[in-house]
Amino acid sequence: MALADITMEEEGWLEQAACRGTDPGLFFPDGTTTQNAQDKISEAKSVCVECDCQINCLEYAIRENQDSGIWGGTSEIERRQIRRDLRSKKVSENQIQAYLVKQLF
Ligand code: SF4
Repeated sequence: MALADITMEEEGWLEQAACRGTDPGLFFPDGTTTQNAQDKISEAKSVCVECDCQINCLEYAIRENQDSGIWGGTSEIERRQIRRDLRSKKVSENQIQAYLVKQLF
């Protein structure tokens, strides 16, 4: 699923999304290892850093197991690590957002 597939009725924070109107290819590059893909990932992350809903976006991606693309300024590999950390630290459902805030800021 891509961000463009989520409706604003489901996720109101999307109205503030800094990536609205940007090239989806930046956030979902083909692969992750080529220089071209790395450049797109870096550019996408620079958009996320300026986004007012970065935490909402990352929390959504973690909760919904979004395993591809850039969400909330994180790559798929970084989100896998976050999920492992959440499990190993036994972070409860209602503490996920607070945990993510600590990780990002
Ligand atoms: S954090 Fe990044 S991917 Fe998420 S809504 Fe903002 S700009 Fe888009």
